[in-house]
Amino acid sequence: MRQNIEQLVNKILREAKISNPPINAERLAESYFDLDFDCAGLNETELAGLKIAEKKIYINEARADELAANFGLKNFTIAHELGHWVLHRNLIDEHTSQMEREADKFATYLLMPENFVRAEFVKLPAWLSAEMKLDSMAKSFACPKKR
Ligand SMILES: [Zn+2]
Repeated sequence: MRQNIEQLVNKILREAKISNPPINAERLAESYFDLDFDCAGLNETELAGLKIAEKKIYINEARADELAANFGLKNFTIAHELGHWVLHRNLIDEHTSQMEREADKFATYLLMPENFVRAEFVKLPAWLSAEMKLDSMAKSFACPKKR
C-alpha cells in the first residue's frame, strides 16, 4: 500500500499542477476535489471529520481556534481527511485503525513529497547547522508547530 499511496499522491500533485511547497490542503480540497468546509460540534478528541455524502470536511468548532493558530496542524488535519476521501470514500460505515494509518500516510506524502523535500534541501546553504536546516525545512513545508 505504501507505494500505491505515494504514487496516487504524486499523480494528484501533478494533475493539480502543484510544484512547490508549502502545499495548501484546504485549497486543494476546494479546487481539485470540490469539497466544502464547515464547522460542527464533533467529539472532543477529533479535530475534523469528513461527511462523504455531503462532500464536506467539518472542522470541530470546539477546536477551531487551536487550528486557526497553527496552520501546519490545520493543514495536516485537512490532508488527513482528504486521505479518507481519496482512499476510503467507498468503504461505507467502515472505520479501522488501518484506515487511520493510511490517511496519515496520505497526508504525509501530500504535504512532504519526496521530490519536493530533496529539491528544497539542496537549496539550503551548506554552512547551516543540522538544526537550522531542519527548522528551515519545517518552515518551507509548513510543518505543525510543536504543542
Ligand atoms: Zn481519520
